[in-house]
Amino acid sequence: MSSPSIVWLRDDLRVSDNPALCAALDRGEPVIVVYVLDHDSPEIRPLGAASRWWLHHSLTALGAETESLGSRLILRRGAARAVIPALVAETNAGAVFWNRRYGANRAIDADLKSSLTESGVTAQSFTANLLHDPWSHQTQGGQPFKVFTPFWKAYLNQHSPRLPWDAPASIPAPATRPASDDLADWALLPTRDWADTFPTHWTPGEAGAHERLNDFLANGLELYHRRDEPGVPSTSHLSPHLRFGEISPYQVWHQTKLAAGPALDKNADRFLSEVGWREFSYHQLFMNPDISTRNLKPEWDAFPWKPVSQARLRAWKQGRTGIGLVDAGMRELWVSGTMHNRVRMVAASFLIKNLGIDWRIGEQWFWDTLVDADEASNPASWQWVAGSGYDAAPYFRVFNPELQAEKFDGDAVYRRTWIPEWGTSSYPQPIINLATSRTEALAAYEAMREPAAPQHP
Ligand SMILES: Cc1cc2nc3c(=O)[nH]c(=O)nc-3n(C[C@H](O)[C@H](O)[C@H](O)COP(=O)(O)OP(=O)(O)OC[C@H]3O[C@@H](n4cnc5c(N)ncnc54)[C@H](O)[C@@H]3O)c2cc1C
Repeated sequence: MSSPSIVWLRDDLRVSDNPALCAALDRGEPVIVVYVLDHDSPEIRPLGAASRWWLHHSLTALGAETESLGSRLILRRGAARAVIPALVAETNAGAVFWNRRYGANRAIDADLKSSLTESGVTAQSFTANLLHDPWSHQTQGGQPFKVFTPFWKAYLNQHSPRLPWDAPASIPAPATRPASDDLADWALLPTRDWADTFPTHWTPGEAGAHERLNDFLANGLELYHRRDEPGVPSTSHLSPHLRFGEISPYQVWHQTKLAAGPALDKNADRFLSEVGWREFSYHQLFMNPDISTRNLKPEWDAFPWKPVSQARLRAWKQGRTGIGLVDAGMRELWVSGTMHNRVRMVAASFLIKNLGIDWRIGEQWFWDTLVDADEASNPASWQWVAGSGYDAAPYFRVFNPELQAEKFDGDAVYRRTWIPEWGTSSYPQPIINLATSRTEALAAYEAMREPAAPQHP
């Protein structure tokens, strides 16, 4: 009787350059490919609405891909600590393979590795979604890196990304295929029509990811030095594809190097260093699994956030603050599930510093509405903007959204794209005075740095 291998896919929804799948195929037994929707384990951060939309379509694409290779994607739901051993028992599997993850969720993987091994089942994990495991390099003093530039320099000096692996020609399925949930029963798609516009912006799945990379290398890379200008189509839009592992950073790395050649060397290096920021975010997540809730700099626990004005928060979410660049970004987010990087910084800074609202509230909104909502990059970036994170912008450097707009969207192409009433009387007046709110933010920051002296009785 055969003893199949299970490939447990998580943030690696692809068949090419997938080390866990390759290991299963090498074992020479039939292969069961499974995805587990785990919203039950306490270590898992439940997906936001935009990510659920993406996941639905990505799993649809992966299901078709595995069928075309002679197999079937099995869907199961529940706490992975129970679901995986149950599938092992049901199928008499002899091995389980997966690609690593690095947040609090890694505790689930560690538990499963020991329990499966103890029961005589091979359990093996691989590096696949990052260019390096976050623990694999440290400062000369043996400490984790807290600053990006030396982190990335050390990576480039010590590693050279391995070549990506091809997709298999086929995946041998077991004689009896295990039962699978019906994807529709997972109800991942929103019940409101909010995401109807997403398909005009995105094609989730491995094929869509490679199309996006090829298009970027052919048309965007030569403009990448203008990546800060939101009205210029110069960035890759690969982030949700990388987030769900529909493409690997190794594939991105080598294809970029190949396409760039000497003429576009600088643009390629800059682009790959942004991929390096993604690695740095995971480095931070690995050290701080609670990065989405805890200030990485503890002194920030004393920051005097303002009581949340629901009206202002709503105006920010709806892109009706009267500050053009912020509103354009927030509307881009709502309509397309993404926002240009520079505008993310400006919109986040406006919420935190001008409205005085705790970064965690903005982070949660992004978590819910971004198709690339990432458990490492999202909180690390919010903490970077706030000043509470690693290598963070100093708090006193408050972005002025009007100056940012002049500098990076001088012809208002971006603002006009996302704000139909831009420049007309129906566009709202600013909900806050930028200069006064900046002064208040700096005073709050000073209050945090110099807490009031204790009163003597
Ligand atoms: C407040 C805030 C929240 C953010 N939340 C997320 C998030 O949830 N998920 C996410 O992937 N990125 C996040 N970012 C980082 C960045 O804005 C996006 O990765 C980028 O806009 C994606 O567009 P792109 O794929 O065209 O980027 P490109 O410029 O083409 O960059 C290539 C790839 O590098 C990675 N990358 C680029 N910039 C960063 C960065 N600053 N930090 C980490 N990785 C980066 C992404 O994977 C991206 O696809 C956030 C930034 C800010 C300021």
